[in-house]
Amino acid sequence: MSRPIKDFTLSKYRELLTSLRGYDGVILRHDVDKKPQNSLEMARLEASLKRKSIYYFRTKKSILNKEIIEEIASLGHEIGYHYESLTTCNGNVDAAWKDFQKNLEKIRAIAPVSKACMHGSPRSKWDSRDIWKKYDYRSVGIEFEPYLDTDFSKTFYLTDTGRRWDGSKYSVRDKIPEYQEIWEKQGLSFSTTDEIIFAARAHTLPESVMITTHPQRWTDKNGEWLWELFSQKLKNRIKRRRLNNPVEIAEPDFGTEAAEVVVNSSEPDFGAEAVTEPDAAEIGAKPVAGPETEVQSADGQQEAVSEATQGAEEAEKAAEVAVKEATKEVAEEATKEPVKEPAEEEEEEFTLFS
Ligand SMILES: [Zn+2]
Repeated sequence: MSRPIKDFTLSKYRELLTSLRGYDGVILRHDVDKKPQNSLEMARLEASLKRKSIYYFRTKKSILNKEIIEEIASLGHEIGYHYESLTTCNGNVDAAWKDFQKNLEKIRAIAPVSKACMHGSPRSKWDSRDIWKKYDYRSVGIEFEPYLDTDFSKTFYLTDTGRRWDGSKYSVRDKIPEYQEIWEKQGLSFSTTDEIIFAARAHTLPESVMITTHPQRWTDKNGEWLWELFSQKLKNRIKRRRLNNPVEIAEPDFGTEAAEVVVNSSEPDFGAEAVTEPDAAEIGAKPVAGPETEVQSADGQQEAVSEATQGAEEAEKAAEVAVKEATKEVAEEATKEPVKEPAEEEEEEFTLFS
């Protein structure tokens, strides 16, 4: 029986980092949407391999963990702010700007921050980048917003969004269509981490790449890993139901004094994008390690049987919770509730800049 090779594990990430040795133009970006402990583990792994990266933290209470942020910074990594203020403030740009500054202060009380990156909130109708139609993040010492300040004509973009590396083309408000198509024509389309590793080793990966990961999904713990697999699979199923029921995209409230500016400014295309998703079948086809399955880690070493058994127990619990959660979500879908701010735990990472 062939053993499953698991993707999105820390072991696999280690392999990826190793394959990227010599690639000095690779930016490792992490969006800390949840489970900050996983970011710490990833940060330690990177430090052990002498790689520096940046961790963009959301400022929700459960995520803005002082000890973890301090340790990540002490390992030599940079800390950034993963903002979602327009969603939090329900489309009110003035309130969002205040919220942005307030949260920036909170995170700056822990570590120096000069970069901010939008959290996609794909189920929200608000795009937090719209704050910058009226306000300037540079006025508060933010020098870099990856989406707005990266020259994608020179930098190839990879993200693990949707638990695959080619999910960006299905995402909501995070497309870079002009470059995505060019990259694909150049053969720069990857689904699994192994495909990226292969390209890196074959030196067919561009020199300048931004690689975004969501550390919550990268784990060697069987239970957690299976949870990610199950929950993503279920989320994708739910998202497929939304194909014919796109998220409402709304124009934010800029306040009366800004009305003229808004009318005259060039607006992004709000109308054409539909919520789509990667093919759930692809993810569903991934091998799932069952209770009796021997699990092989990426470097070929068998994990201890006891760990596998423990993982299987955790997985069983995780699956139970996942099914309950999915049932609840499907029920919500059925009643066609209006779009609301997603609960933290059901946050989707289906966007390039989530
Ligand atoms: Zn995010």
